[in-house]
Amino acid sequence: MRYRGRTFKRDDPNASQYTLEEMKAIVADAHRLGRRVAAHAHGAEGVRWASEAGVDSIEHGHLMDDAAIATLKKNGTYLVPTLFLTEYMQANLERSNVPEFFKNKRCATSPRPRKSTQRRRLPRA
Ligand SMILES: [Zn+2]
Repeated sequence: MRYRGRTFKRDDPNASQYTLEEMKAIVADAHRLGRRVAAHAHGAEGVRWASEAGVDSIEHGHLMDDAAIATLKKNGTYLVPTLFLTEYMQANLERSNVPEFFKNKRCATSPRPRKSTQRRRLPRA
């Protein structure tokens, strides 16, 4: 499953592009066929819904909040934070040949990846 979020001009990286019910149907059918499901998600809502729908992993999760992190833990959903990719792109953004809106969107959403994945490592209360 894919949430576009940052690469398209008018997409909100925090908004899920599927409903929870749609995700549940996708995951159920994939699992019925013996397939694993990875969700490409940045925002907290998409991460929470994908995990509740039963996806096996979340790719990115850069804009997760505490509730999304708790949902991943509760459901045992793997997180693939892709930190190197994000940091590399951020470091090379000015010399890359991408549209200005993409640069602005990355700047608005990229400083948080380390922060959200560091929260995940905090000791449990
Ligand atoms: Zn991606």
